[in-house]
Amino acid sequence: MHAITNSGWVEVVTGSMFSGKTEELLRRVRRAEIAGQSVAAFSPALDDRFGSATIGSHAGQQIEATVVDQEEPEPAMHDALNGEDVVAIDEANFFSGALVDACEALAADGRRVIVSGTDQTFRGEPFHPLPDLMAVAEYVDKYQAICTQCGEPASRNQRLIEGEPAHYDDPTVMVGAEESYEARCRSCHVVRRD
Ligand SMILES: [Zn+2]
Repeated sequence: MHAITNSGWVEVVTGSMFSGKTEELLRRVRRAEIAGQSVAAFSPALDDRFGSATIGSHAGQQIEATVVDQEEPEPAMHDALNGEDVVAIDEANFFSGALVDACEALAADGRRVIVSGTDQTFRGEPFHPLPDLMAVAEYVDKYQAICTQCGEPASRNQRLIEGEPAHYDDPTVMVGAEESYEARCRSCHVVRRD
């Protein structure tokens, strides 16, 4: 798939939720490890929990990851790195734009950087920093899930609050509300605007 090269590069694995992004990230990591390459993995500090975490797919595979600050990931990444050939970053959509600079620096350093994250908000709009990462990346793969409503390829994240489609103006975090997500196609994706 990739040319043999001495320089680093950035590859983005994106798509909607339930499209198998994390599973694909883990597949690429495992394949590199089989070839004897060393891998460092990072994930965002959701809920301000630092330390180590696991990147796990719905299929049950997992790897250990270092948790880094979403706003300023570079210092902690720098501290954790010890000559690894490959860097894997999951849930990239939770990071600030500083992740783009961090990935560029890692690739400039000769590393293969694999970044996974969803590229659309529940509103169906670009979810930064994924669009920026996709622009500077050498390789981009966008995966589809299957629409829960009609069975066609799904590229959108349907947000449901108490079982009903979320409103465009709903805050990202709704305290006390029962919310869930499902993959839907363009036709079946609903964002309330009333
Ligand atoms: Zn559909």
